Amino acid sequence: MKDETKLAVLGRDPEGHHGAVNIPVYRASTILQPSLKALADVYSAKMKDEQVTTYGRGGTPLTYAFENTLAELEGGYRAMAYPSGAGACSGAILSVVKSGDHILIIDNIYGPTRHFCDTVLKRMGVETEYFPTAISMADFAARFRPNTSLVFIESPGSLTFEMVDVPAIAEITHKHGAKLAMDNTWGTSLYFKSFSHGVDLSVHAATKYIVGHSDAMLGIVIANKETWPNLRETARAIGANAGPDEVYLGLRGLRTMAVRLPRHMESGIKIADWLRSRDEVTSVRHPALSQDPGHALWKRDFLGACGLFAFELQKKYSDAAVAEFVDHLELFGIGYSWGGYESLISVPAIKGVRTAEPWQNHGSLIRVHIGLEDPEDLMADLTAGFDRLNRAQG
Ligand SMILES: *Cc1c(COP(=O)(O)O)cnc(C)c1O
Repeated sequence: MKDETKLAVLGRDPEGHHGAVNIPVYRASTILQPSLKALADVYSAKMKDEQVTTYGRGGTPLTYAFENTLAELEGGYRAMAYPSGAGACSGAILSVVKSGDHILIIDNIYGPTRHFCDTVLKRMGVETEYFPTAISMADFAARFRPNTSLVFIESPGSLTFEMVDVPAIAEITHKHGAKLAMDNTWGTSLYFKSFSHGVDLSVHAATKYIVGHSDAMLGIVIANKETWPNLRETARAIGANAGPDEVYLGLRGLRTMAVRLPRHMESGIKIADWLRSRDEVTSVRHPALSQDPGHALWKRDFLGACGLFAFELQKKYSDAAVAEFVDHLELFGIGYSWGGYESLISVPAIKGVRTAEPWQNHGSLIRVHIGLEDPEDLMADLTAGFDRLNRAQG
């Protein structure tokens, strides 16, 4: 089955649900059983990791349908849904580390994941070392210690879009007996098949393209056979279960993801390419552009791109001029997140979320999410923004 077909047929059970095309939302805490024996049987099946329903927190047929669809789409073994992408990141990390461990995290990691490591993990006695995105493989290998248990990467980074060589990192990580987790939100299960590139735990903010409509918070971790038992055990112990309505929206979003993403990709590349021609712009950070430093890796390993990228303005533009550009756009919302149907813009402060690789000598970095609007309309909006930028700068 091709991916498009998988997204239309997986995770459905009309026979089990009165013919309904979609599995309905199970709003349940208690699951009643006909006898003590039946209760004991279903509990022991759950302990053997069978997908039975014993209690709301442990998952319902809808949760399993969502998790299994993503595991199969990306080529993993099993998956666990979380109440947010941030919960999925910390859930994946906690399933691997123990007190006294050392972990290696890429410097362009999602900010709240960094915060988790610097606070909660630190308190637990886990030492986090951040490594630069432009690290050589020899330097990377030299950073492993006997107690290094986990490497966590994001490629491309979701603010600055550097790419790393995932299979090379996986090989070195495994040679040192550690596990490799990757935040694969940008690549998605459609465009980056993480498990065939050596990843052990693939993490997604399902809030983004999976839900796809900016109306729910949801996360997913897909595990291979080796990492699954601990992932499941840890999620169960923490009580990090996703809510049924959010899971429904996640599975519903997946049905159209293979239609939405190519549009995000095409419009994104078109606008990124156009931005290269603007005098105000010094560089465009988008791995699908042939000029991008990460392009060769993207071309080798990825099957597509999403609609999220960034560009840098000339250093001469003041913060006030940049605000004139951003604040009055009509089609780009100002706010966190991405992956919905609508376009967004932000001006992230990179300095504060870098420790291994200084961020200096840059103009303002503008991150855009290109939504499903007509790209000509979006470019007209940005053109008017550039006029305001230049007028304000004088
Ligand atoms: C948004 C995001 C997350 C966190 O997801 P939430 O659902 O917002 O908690 C994690 N990683 C990346 C790359 C993200 O963009």
